Amino acid sequence: MEKYYEIVIVGAGPNAINAYYKLKEFNKSAKIVIFDKGNSLNNLRNLPEVRWHSTMKELKLESSINAQIDDSYIPMSSELIRYYEEFIKEHQIMINEFQEVKNIIAQNKENYNYKIEVKDIKKQSNHFVFSKNILICTGIYENKRKLDINTAFDFCSYESNLSHRNKNLVLVGGGGSAIDFILNLLPHNKITWIIKRDTWKNIRPNLEKTFKKTLEEFSSNLKVEFNTEIKQINNDRSIILSNKKRILNIDKIHILIGHNSKSELLKKIEAEFNNECLNLDKNFQTSLKGIYAFGSIMSKWDLENNKPLDFFVENGHPQELKKIIRDINKQKILDFMPNAYINPKVDLQKKLKPSLKIRISTKAKHFIKKLLGLKS
Ligand SMILES: Cc1cc2nc3c(=O)[nH]c(=O)nc-3n(C[C@H](O)[C@H](O)[C@H](O)COP(=O)(O)OP(=O)(O)OC[C@H]3O[C@@H](n4cnc5c(N)ncnc54)[C@H](O)[C@@H]3O)c2cc1C
Repeated sequence: MEKYYEIVIVGAGPNAINAYYKLKEFNKSAKIVIFDKGNSLNNLRNLPEVRWHSTMKELKLESSINAQIDDSYIPMSSELIRYYEEFIKEHQIMINEFQEVKNIIAQNKENYNYKIEVKDIKKQSNHFVFSKNILICTGIYENKRKLDINTAFDFCSYESNLSHRNKNLVLVGGGGSAIDFILNLLPHNKITWIIKRDTWKNIRPNLEKTFKKTLEEFSSNLKVEFNTEIKQINNDRSIILSNKKRILNIDKIHILIGHNSKSELLKKIEAEFNNECLNLDKNFQTSLKGIYAFGSIMSKWDLENNKPLDFFVENGHPQELKKIIRDINKQKILDFMPNAYINPKVDLQKKLKPSLKIRISTKAKHFIKKLLGLKS
């Protein structure tokens, strides 16, 4: 069955649902579809009992219930899932769950540019839809950054697991996930924390107090190795560090060194990358015309720290979304009425022209006065 949509949204995280809402608000009759390979808000559901770092002020999307929710409140994942579920209901956003976008193939037909292969996870069957515009909102959480040593041991993981009790753990990384790991697990486990730099990531003021209190109260459970990297992991559950220290009797190593944009889908469709991040133009269009990146997948490469910059929910990035909507709309008009398209820059030039005229005439007046020997 062939289906044509004006816009296909891949992924149903917080940024994707906001994109759907705003796109529909801009053009009510537009045929837009969202696919998620799991449930909506899939990545938030993986760690439901974790308190977030942002306050509701930064997490709210446009909703009639906002006024009743305290801006300074820091939610648990599970609470935030309920809030975004309410947003989905309020704005009647239809999400096609358990539908994984497997491939996007460029076409040369008149009405559509891309053929999108979607796998129905439950039925284990594939179907196709067609669209000119695609918003990739797949997030970054499945694309873990990896160490360049052998980490293929059953006691070594790139995932977080906050259920450990009475274990000897090694934690690698100094970012937000590592901080969550310490907050949740230090009271119940011995942890050796290995950080490449001389400190961990800045902690938001609202979490700093709890974090400091946890470190103080359970200091006997923690050993921090700053400016250090793992050089080797051994079968006997030991590791060797770059500062020559050896850690023995490890139950589990968790390597939480961040994420990047290099998803299987984006690699398959040959989108261009800049280091580990997508190459995007000023309107967040990828190197493939009509395919945009939105949400945490928009992340840019941080040259100074050699890693992708953090890109979070931030109220569903309304400014970036505006640019994408304007660009999609511009393309649409150019397609059916190229000669009637008004470039906003033309308007701007029109506005500038009178002042240019004044400037020229003042100059001319000066010149004429000079010629006539008059004082200006
Ligand atoms: C414990 C925890 C605490 C956090 N704390 C904060 C915080 O304080 N502040 C903050 O702003 N952020 C926080 N984050 C990060 C937050 O989850 C992200 O900022 C946010 O989810 C990004 O939203 P997104 O819509 O860009 O992508 P995601 O939420 O990552 O959504 C991507 C979606 O795409 C789907 N998908 C992927 N590939 C495909 C495919 N091929 N086909 C179909 N669907 C696909 C996934 O199933 C997923 O549902 C936290 C995350 C966790 C887990």
